[in-house]
Amino acid sequence: MTPFTSLPGPLSASPALAFTLVFALALLVSVALRLWLATRQARHVAAHRDAVPAQFAERIPLAAHRRAADYTLARVRLGLVETLLGAVVLVCFTVLGGIGAIADGLRALLPDAPFLRQVLLVGAVAALGAALDLPLAAYRQFGLEKRFGFNRMTPRLFVADLAKGTLLAVALGAPLLVAVLWLMERAGTLWWLWAWAVWVAFNLAVLVLYPTVIAPMFNAFVPLEPGPVRERVERLLARCGFASKGLFVMDGSRRSAHGNAYFTGFGRCKRIVFFDTLLARLDADEVEAVLAHELGHFTHRHILKRIVATFAISLAGLWLLGWLSRQPWFYQGLGVTPQAGDGLGGYALLLFFLAMPVFTFVLHPLGSWLSRRHEFEADAFAARQSSADDLSRALVKLYEDNASTLTPDPVHSAFYDSHPPAAIRLARLAALRDAAGGSPRPAPA
Ligand SMILES: [Zn+2]
Repeated sequence: MTPFTSLPGPLSASPALAFTLVFALALLVSVALRLWLATRQARHVAAHRDAVPAQFAERIPLAAHRRAADYTLARVRLGLVETLLGAVVLVCFTVLGGIGAIADGLRALLPDAPFLRQVLLVGAVAALGAALDLPLAAYRQFGLEKRFGFNRMTPRLFVADLAKGTLLAVALGAPLLVAVLWLMERAGTLWWLWAWAVWVAFNLAVLVLYPTVIAPMFNAFVPLEPGPVRERVERLLARCGFASKGLFVMDGSRRSAHGNAYFTGFGRCKRIVFFDTLLARLDADEVEAVLAHELGHFTHRHILKRIVATFAISLAGLWLLGWLSRQPWFYQGLGVTPQAGDGLGGYALLLFFLAMPVFTFVLHPLGSWLSRRHEFEADAFAARQSSADDLSRALVKLYEDNASTLTPDPVHSAFYDSHPPAAIRLARLAALRDAAGGSPRPAPA
């Protein structure tokens, strides 16, 4: 990247000041929006705490419904703390000059190594951010999750995960960072296009490595045992024409009582992974219905669409970063005054990735809406290939076990939720069953 032709002076102060104000305004709006949504959610859930919605009255006891409300409220409160702390940390790093102070320290330490300084600057800010996050992560696991009976983690496992996660982040992140910073310096004004290609290749590599290398670092995977569940699953896969490299059970219970099932890998390396906590709770019919839902995501190419969308968005983001990184007001407005001899890449990356979420937060509902649309499509697929009733029963069990609220605030839900609210989702499944005339399970192929 070419340095500025003239060093920042008084003349560039006014665009910088204007950008500081725009940033401050966007931060205020996003924090206010988060607080407003949290308040709505808390009020709505509290107001419905003492009555199970009629739709679920026969299937979920009042005690479980109240527990779900209390769990939701506790998470909303923790979310408020995270929002406010996050905003304070962001302001400290940017407009109050935190990044500039760290850069000054590194310049004193390594006056002759501007490139290394950029790498270390990004690393230091990332490490500091993670360290500040740590008390909250520990509280979430050993305070909140434990209080509601979800935590299965020992402090020893928490520390081991932290160590492994940090090593992994450095092993994967450092080469990527060095490559991008090098491109920013050497690849001319189109560096962002090259950086995008590197980013895409990096993500595809992680997708390939995840099931076989990364996930096994944290969990044990054993093949699904022969038995009624496996038979049902294999028949469903044959019926849907789905080839898989294997059915695995993961020891999710080492960390949490929450249950799940997912697909991983792509092409012929696809694997289906069930959490042991899910298999312990659902019967064979219900496991089949849950898997049929996941197959629905696969058949409708939801995962591929999401990957393509992510790549398209990152291309637009990198183009924007390419432009912003050439504007002196971008740095000064966010509290950084580059000194002669400083490489700009590290500053540009940090400021962009710290400040950008403040501006894009308002777009959150769009992603949530698309995700909920995919969930409905996957449910409809499950109703066709398996049974709407079985999926309903499985979902009700999972809602109860995971203490998911059945009564979210509609606005909060529309903004954040990747899955449709319980009541709407089950009503759709019931309609699908009725439309299919009672939906007997399809005959085994
Ligand atoms: Zn889904």
